[in-house]
Amino acid sequence: MTAFDVINPATEEVVASVELAGLEQADAAIQRAVGALPGWKAVSPGDRARVLRRFAERVDADLENLARLEVTNAGHTIGNARWEAGNVRDVLHYYSAAPERLFGRQIPVPGGVNVTFAEPLGVVGVIVPWNFPMPIAGWGFAPALAAGNTVVLKPAEWTPLTALRLAELALEAGIPEGVFQVVPGRGDVVGQRFVTHPSVRKVVFTGSTRVGKQIMAGCAEQVKRVTLELGGKSANIIFADADLAKAAATAPSAVFDNAGQDCCARSRILVQRSVYDEFMAEFEQAVKKVRVGAPADESTEMGPLVSQAHRERVQSYVDDAPVAFRGQAPDGPGFWFPPTVLGPGDYRALTEEVFGPVVSVQPFDDEADAVKIANDSDYGLSGSIWTRDVGRALRVARAVDAGNLSVNSHSSVRYWTPFGGFKQSGLGRELGPDALAAFTEVKNVFIDTQE
Ligand code: NAD
Repeated sequence: MTAFDVINPATEEVVASVELAGLEQADAAIQRAVGALPGWKAVSPGDRARVLRRFAERVDADLENLARLEVTNAGHTIGNARWEAGNVRDVLHYYSAAPERLFGRQIPVPGGVNVTFAEPLGVVGVIVPWNFPMPIAGWGFAPALAAGNTVVLKPAEWTPLTALRLAELALEAGIPEGVFQVVPGRGDVVGQRFVTHPSVRKVVFTGSTRVGKQIMAGCAEQVKRVTLELGGKSANIIFADADLAKAAATAPSAVFDNAGQDCCARSRILVQRSVYDEFMAEFEQAVKKVRVGAPADESTEMGPLVSQAHRERVQSYVDDAPVAFRGQAPDGPGFWFPPTVLGPGDYRALTEEVFGPVVSVQPFDDEADAVKIANDSDYGLSGSIWTRDVGRALRVARAVDAGNLSVNSHSSVRYWTPFGGFKQSGLGRELGPDALAAFTEVKNVFIDTQE
């Protein structure tokens, strides 16, 4: 084991030291998950539902503590962090309804009765990034546990504290030992072991497209199931007939929320040419109003970036780009970065995921042009369409190659609905009514009824 110093991104102070597991500890955790599997599978559906509801209730009772941990560990604003802890609770409640509804089918066949069963996969490895440590963990472990799997979860090196707390809450709620374990460690050690260990039957990975490709290739060795939630470069398309004031007022939160460290960030704003200048004038006012500061302050809208290394990476995208205008950011300690708006041109931030508070604004001519620019990306995660024309809204929503689109709003993640990406933004879907299918295998059983 080696120790890892966890740093508060708003103050640069060390707030905790976390032991990182090595290969031996990862293997031991996987072995415990294997051992816990038969018992967990045997828990009756009603009892499994009850213990998941108790887990949700423990999370709810600990919500303020979890939120404050995330403020300290990841620099999230307190408002966001409360939403994130509440999302874990809600996702647990949602999937606690699943064990009692994990239906198979009876399919008419000659000569007998045919039924299908939704069997758990076994041990599921969940690998989580640092940008939304709580919700992304929950989207993996809640449906996995509900379907009867055991879970080993690796948080990102920089942000392990809330995941460790969630593991404690699970035990307090009565989830048996070994059923849900959090194993902090390096990606290329613990995360990679989830890929190579034959007893881990599925990997749920959220993170960069670069690492996601390696995970997918590694999983192919054992034909291991894999879900990938990867990067994005989503477009916010604003037509001339839209409610321009609302589009401009909401565009900052669509990209600067969580300091832009959001896979669904609308980091490309496309504006119809005839209203480009008008939009830019209103957008500038909105960007200048974004309150960037201490994340624990209730009125703060944007906190710091997660680390110094990440701030340097974000800065490198702005160095060669045409800055149109910027918002505010505090001086002094903390990994601060002002909301930054880039104009048209040819630069890296136009196509690559910056994962910081940086947005480009480009003009387009007509509907076809907007769709062409929006789709000119290897990514396809989310996006927004602003127009008062319902027909156009639907045409464009169908034409944009992305998994999660919103019209006259910026919502991406609603736990009732499927979430995931087209193209290099991912593989598979999380959340919603169908997520259980990603954590089960269909087993077909035929019973001969002939004499
Ligand atoms: P990352 O790929 O560097 O790391 C993600 C996780 O993978 C971490 O836990 C890390 O330790 C682990 N990891 C790293 N190398 C590994 C390896 N070789 N084998 C196994 N695991 C390994 O990504 P990040 O910088 O932590 O997160 C930012 C990225 O995540 C962005 O690209 C963002 O778009 C993406 N993301 C996507 C979604 C989505 O749902 N689509 C959500 C949030 C973040």
